[in-house]
Amino acid sequence: MQHENRASDIVVVGGGFAGLVTAAALSDLGADVLVLESLGSEPRAFRGELVHPRGVRELARMRLVDPLIGAGAVRIEGFAAFAPGDSDPVLLPYGDGGLGLAIDHALLLRTLRSEIAERGRVRLVAGVRVQDVLRRGGRVVGVRDEGGREHPATLVVAADGRHSRVRARLGIPATSLLLSHSVAIALPGDVLVQPGHGHVFSGAPGPVLAYPFGERRVRICIDVPRRPPASARVTSSDAADAQPEGARAPEAPLTRERLRTSLEEQYAPRLPDAMRRALRAALERAPPAGAGNHAVSTSICAVAGAALVGDAGGCSHPITATGMTMAVRDAATLASCVREHGLTDRALVAYQRRRFGFVRAREAFTHALYEVLGGSSPGADALCDGMFRWWRGSAAARRASMRVLSGEDDRGLAFAAEYVQVAAWASAVVLRRALRDGEGHRAAVRLRSLFASASANLALAVQKAASAAALERTTELRTIGPRG
Ligand SMILES: Cc1cc2nc3c(=O)[nH]c(=O)nc-3n(C[C@H](O)[C@H](O)[C@H](O)COP(=O)(O)OP(=O)(O)OC[C@H]3O[C@@H](n4cnc5c(N)ncnc54)[C@H](O)[C@@H]3O)c2cc1C
Repeated sequence: MQHENRASDIVVVGGGFAGLVTAAALSDLGADVLVLESLGSEPRAFRGELVHPRGVRELARMRLVDPLIGAGAVRIEGFAAFAPGDSDPVLLPYGDGGLGLAIDHALLLRTLRSEIAERGRVRLVAGVRVQDVLRRGGRVVGVRDEGGREHPATLVVAADGRHSRVRARLGIPATSLLLSHSVAIALPGDVLVQPGHGHVFSGAPGPVLAYPFGERRVRICIDVPRRPPASARVTSSDAADAQPEGARAPEAPLTRERLRTSLEEQYAPRLPDAMRRALRAALERAPPAGAGNHAVSTSICAVAGAALVGDAGGCSHPITATGMTMAVRDAATLASCVREHGLTDRALVAYQRRRFGFVRAREAFTHALYEVLGGSSPGADALCDGMFRWWRGSAAARRASMRVLSGEDDRGLAFAAEYVQVAAWASAVVLRRALRDGEGHRAAVRLRSLFASASANLALAVQKAASAAALERTTELRTIGPRG
């Protein structure tokens, strides 16, 4: 006989970043929230640590910024971007006095959990894995955990990450692609060229991101593409990450020793001296560990009685560090829809209508930026040149790009306008070099590749904008069948 729990207003599945901020936002409306988290201990998998100003503003509205700063979060002023082989970065400030935050991910979760638990309306239960949703009359009316225990609720929120089981049980289609792996390493000391800034390095087989995440602590995240030009493939420490939905990656994983050699030989030389030395010392101390980088795209984010938030609703490559900003926006958007319409399907219709504009724009610009910084073709190399020239040319260009990249400007059109400028600069650079060096054939190859990339990325942006516009016209929710 199954144990029947007391009904909650809301059950949130997943006590990661998205689940916790959603619980905070919804409990602030006076709802009783039950958060079910499958892990009984701290997560092993590496996850995001840097939140852009737009996310920080939402966290401040939820009264979560002061506790995070109290726990040791550091302020981020913007980014320093390094062109291939260049030691002089382009600075991309957030602008308008906006500040980001960065903090060790495990400490972030611990701080949010204790802060939210103190507020009274949220009950957090760890070590409970949700297995399925409860259905009645085409609606979701709760969840069932692996022990067979039922947790009825008026609203179910799936915050169980990119490989969301709840999403699958709701029958919400998603495409999932394993793009690359990130090797994440903590470096001690002041090794940043531009203190208080995130750093992006291009010119290696994959982009490298570094940022301060505590007092004299720097995190370096090295992207190892799935099919890199020379050698490497990383062994993930996170079994779920190594496995995209459905099938396991077909290639044999790279040994840790070969990965270390690749990091030493292909990535370290692209870094400034102090960071290179710190990376080499860290690689001597411990074998590198990582997490998979997926692109997951969902077709909808709500059905009758349930909604997806955070990575369960889709994710992009972490190069733009927008996953948590996106998650906290999801939480704030869902809460504002519930404030307007109560715990009803009208709230979920409104949530679906409002959510996808930035999601689709982010999918398009992350794809384009990863291609440019990964430099996997002559056209991508040319676009990378063009991007840095565009940024060096004007402060307005740097501000506009940063507004797009940090999620401040969420219009798909703003990204497309930036991209066209970059492609125009890139073409001009290729043509100027061809005239100077008389290398017509090489220029033709680069231009062909550049136009192919540019037209594919602009077509993708248009397709994403059309998909977002269609979802903005949602008028009713899909019901779910008796078995999802
Ligand atoms: C390498 C890397 C670097 C990144 N860097 C950044 C960054 O700097 N800035 C940024 O904004 N974003 C970054 N991101 C993205 C960011 O980590 C995610 O967007 C964010 O963690 C999403 O939070 P989430 O709660 O949706 O998912 P997750 O963090 O994956 O949490 C999901 C939670 O659900 C639990 N769960 C899963 N299944 C069940 C179940 N059946 N029942 C109960 N619980 C369940 C899991 O245990 C987990 O605690 C990065 C991602 C990666 C991979």
